[in-house]
Amino acid sequence: MIEETQEWLDRDRRYIWHGMAGYNPSASPMVVTEADGAWITDIDGNRYLDGMAGMWNVNSGYGREELAQAAYEQLKTMPYYPITQGHLPAIELAEKLNEWLDGDYVIRYANSGSEANETAFKIARQYHAQNGESGRYKFIARYRGYHGNTFGSLAATGQSQRKYLYEPLAPGFLHVAPPDRYRCGYCSDRPACNLQCAREVERVINWELLETVAAVIVEPIITGGGIILPPDGYLEEVARMCERTGVLLIVDEVGCGFGRTGKKFGYHHHDVKPDIVTIGKAMTSGYLPLSAAAVRREVFEKFEGTEEYGRLRHVNTFGGNPAACAVAVKNLEIMEDEDLPGRSATLGERLREELTELKGHPNVGEIRGRGLLFGIELVEDKESKQPVSTRTMDKIISACKESGLILRYNRDTAPGVNNVLVLAPPLAITDEDLAFIVETLKESFEQL
Ligand code: PMP
Repeated sequence: MIEETQEWLDRDRRYIWHGMAGYNPSASPMVVTEADGAWITDIDGNRYLDGMAGMWNVNSGYGREELAQAAYEQLKTMPYYPITQGHLPAIELAEKLNEWLDGDYVIRYANSGSEANETAFKIARQYHAQNGESGRYKFIARYRGYHGNTFGSLAATGQSQRKYLYEPLAPGFLHVAPPDRYRCGYCSDRPACNLQCAREVERVINWELLETVAAVIVEPIITGGGIILPPDGYLEEVARMCERTGVLLIVDEVGCGFGRTGKKFGYHHHDVKPDIVTIGKAMTSGYLPLSAAAVRREVFEKFEGTEEYGRLRHVNTFGGNPAACAVAVKNLEIMEDEDLPGRSATLGERLREELTELKGHPNVGEIRGRGLLFGIELVEDKESKQPVSTRTMDKIISACKESGLILRYNRDTAPGVNNVLVLAPPLAITDEDLAFIVETLKESFEQL
């Protein structure tokens, strides 16, 4: 290691507390200095293909001049004004988001996915109060789902290891089993899914007393919790129950949105119309922080500001930052021009075919995915489905890294099931780079 690198690492260790890390004076985080396309370069000049697109958000890929330019131009013209008033990029983006969402939504801007979900929870509770049903305060989410790191969004998260030592969190959040066909308690031993997992949502609503339930929150695909795809008809069934019972449906698209699953949004694979869609991450392809809660117009219209508490009394300093909005507009234009959702679908199918061979590996329990979002569930043996240890997961991640490929797995989520390797490269990835991922992955499995 060259001397200069050592110095940067010392300074990093001294001053930075990294995500998911504790105190470790000998840690050696990767210090990334450059990025282009699907590749990142560390401080020593080592290049890695980023098979995770950052945190599955650099959907348009790294090194996009136009995005840097869009931020620069906006920062020069008008860098900041609070979103309590208006500015042009926020309006342009909200309009464009409506085209993308394919519905009639108003946009409530925020900074992170967690915060977008917090906003959604407040809107849901107050919406019911505006309707004369102020007793509706509970939220139903799924085990293994992830919705963020703040007290409300973490309460909604169904991952006990992420919550441990931080509880008690916000009250009023309940969980039901995820639609996990591979390990489903209702149907994995049957020839077909019986959608019992979806109906469980309604049973919980009834047991809890309908008059107390505000909303159901779901990710279209449980992303951070292990790439868990719902069976056909699941989301439609949950949406129908919500409609019947007046419970709002919040779809958390923070992980799945903006082409990741092969369509503009994950819920576009299903025949549902969410009441609130929360978005973030890939809206700017990670170039600047921005998130939002997109709220169905009928829900918004309940917030008539005539009464003292009729307004949504919620604001933040940076949400809808003009430069972030300008970057998002440009990012969505790039995605449209290059049809990145379509590319994600096509490459996803190619990836599925290329990975078929791995299904025969004794430690591969299941390979599942949609678009450029794939999970490979690793087991000790196919019969018992016993998840492999995190040591095995770390081994495969290290083998990939040594060959120049960055991948991750669902670490510290729910006990015993931190065994899903994740592939989520930039959607703008080249054919050659995708081939490199497949080749490297296959080689690393040979080392298990
Ligand atoms: N919801 C989902 C589905 C996510 O994947 C994430 C981030 N991993 C979040 C919410 C939280 O977003 P953020 O990290 O921007 O707060």
